Amino acid sequence: MKKVGIIICDRYRNCGGGKCLRAMRERKGGFAIYSTQEPVEVVGYSSCGGCPGGNVEYVPEEMKKNGANVIHLATGMVVGYPPCPNIRNFKKYIETQFGLPVVVGTHPIPQKYMEAHEKLPFWTEHKMAEIARHLMEEPEEVKTAYN
Ligand code: SF4
Repeated sequence: MKKVGIIICDRYRNCGGGKCLRAMRERKGGFAIYSTQEPVEVVGYSSCGGCPGGNVEYVPEEMKKNGANVIHLATGMVVGYPPCPNIRNFKKYIETQFGLPVVVGTHPIPQKYMEAHEKLPFWTEHKMAEIARHLMEEPEEVKTAYN
């Protein structure tokens, strides 16, 4: 059973989490790696605490104590304008310090963000395809369904 801790970008701290939870249910976006046969439960949900992400130093431990066996960094960190510059550091830190695997992404990239980023330099500058290609390459109809 996957027990998931989700960390979102603090710029979206008022988000109700609807897209993330829908994607978990539908096994899309960052959750596409899990079989529909495998139960997935959210055991923690928090923001990074604001730039530069100080809550990432602490909150994975609480999630782990509550049973988390994987951490997902929310898609907002990838699609924000600009994207989070600390994603790689978060991933490396959580995996090293807490021994928890980190998946980049929760819900699919909404198509409207995809189109905006194709005109912007941020993803190239951040080499985002190296860590989020699986999100970028989802079918357009899936991305459109998450607009
Ligand atoms: S850009 Fe990164 S560090 Fe800044 S608030 Fe968002 S997730 Fe946190």
